[in-house]
Amino acid sequence: MPQITFEIQAICPTTRARAGVLHTPHGDIETPVFMPVGTQATVKGLSQRDLAEELDARIILCNTYHLYLRPGHELIRQLGGLHRFMSWPRAILTDSGGFQVFSLSGIRKITEDAVIFNSHLNGDSHVFTPQSTVDVQLAFGSDILMALDECPEYPVSHEYARQAMLRTVRWAGAAYGHYLKQITVMESRHGLFLIVQGSMYPDLRRECCAALVELDADGYAIGGLSVGEPRPLSLEMVEVSEALLPRERPRYAMGVGMPDELPEYVARGIDMMDCVLPSRNARNGYLFTSQGRVIIKHARYKDDSGPVDPDCPCYTCRTYSRAYLRHLFQAGEILYASLATRHNLQRYLDIMRGIRHSILLGKFPEYLDCVRRASAQIE
Ligand SMILES: [Zn+2]
Repeated sequence: MPQITFEIQAICPTTRARAGVLHTPHGDIETPVFMPVGTQATVKGLSQRDLAEELDARIILCNTYHLYLRPGHELIRQLGGLHRFMSWPRAILTDSGGFQVFSLSGIRKITEDAVIFNSHLNGDSHVFTPQSTVDVQLAFGSDILMALDECPEYPVSHEYARQAMLRTVRWAGAAYGHYLKQITVMESRHGLFLIVQGSMYPDLRRECCAALVELDADGYAIGGLSVGEPRPLSLEMVEVSEALLPRERPRYAMGVGMPDELPEYVARGIDMMDCVLPSRNARNGYLFTSQGRVIIKHARYKDDSGPVDPDCPCYTCRTYSRAYLRHLFQAGEILYASLATRHNLQRYLDIMRGIRHSILLGKFPEYLDCVRRASAQIE
């Protein structure tokens, strides 16, 4: 019996989109959902009160690699788990650490059952195994855990991509077996998602899906996206993979996307997404609005007394002008990062709520057309 359950409420008759609810021990999450990224157990620039009360985020993503290195999973366990440590009462998904190990740290060695790497903080040597990353995430008390995977860079040869994919499948089996053993003796409830790899090769994606589906996991993620590939390829890999994943389980596209891409993933059967773009771009002065992108440092906003986005209900847009935000940005004031992040995340969450609403009303194809026409105009 799965501990995290997924209920489908509406299915789009023409695309693969669906609306549902993911039931977790820390609340119900309406899908499709965008998960703000809280790398170091914080969404940079926002308080947990902002996230819950203002933005109504139901689930956030935290990074296992970072929190394992600092402050350490044993300390977090001692302090009552990640929810209590960071005072976040709602759901948490943690990644497996695989992506950061392969992108940030100095890899020493990948063996059949482990990856040995050096911390990017102080060079210390560490080992991740499929089992140890499950243990770390259980110490955090994450609602949704991710299995360790190997995310190869792009482009990569078919031969290497195949080896990495087969290793990911073996690691998924090891992680899932270990996870099932661990949770039988635990009182808390969790879910483990497995990650589809295979770089940009459809045959490898299919092979990976077929093997992972055998394990009958709580959910499936499509990883290895947003590694520098052209956008049509990412969408194609999602299509190829999604077709083979069980319809009744949640699907999560990792690390995507731009605002106008969100409905494209949903149209291909994706229920969950995460991306650092809204928060990172906010800090860098890129604001997403219903009328396109605002680059706040531009001189044209110097005396602009209007809000960032007149259609946005967020605190930033209700309260401050573009001129004031531009001033804060130019002056390097920390309030800027907080106000800008709040706006960009509101924009992403509102887009997802709009998408969900249109699916429930049976009007998602019209919604998608409208977004495609608008983004063609902006380009
Ligand atoms: Zn706003």
